[in-house]
Amino acid sequence: MIQLCERCYAPVDAATERVYRLSHIESADAAGEVTWREAVVHVAACAPAGTVVPAGRWAA
Ligand SMILES: [Zn+2]
Repeated sequence: MIQLCERCYAPVDAATERVYRLSHIESADAAGEVTWREAVVHVAACAPAGTVVPAGRWAA
């Protein structure tokens, strides 16, 4: 399974990159049983997805 950084959406290799592991509640049933979804985000600063304009392309 390929994990993606929640901030920049780049693939993450958790064996070689420093990441924070996050747990989000996906759902809970009537009995209170919670389903968790695990996620990662880079420890080092990374640009949020959609905020970087590719080189050679100007904003309209
Ligand atoms: Zn990232």
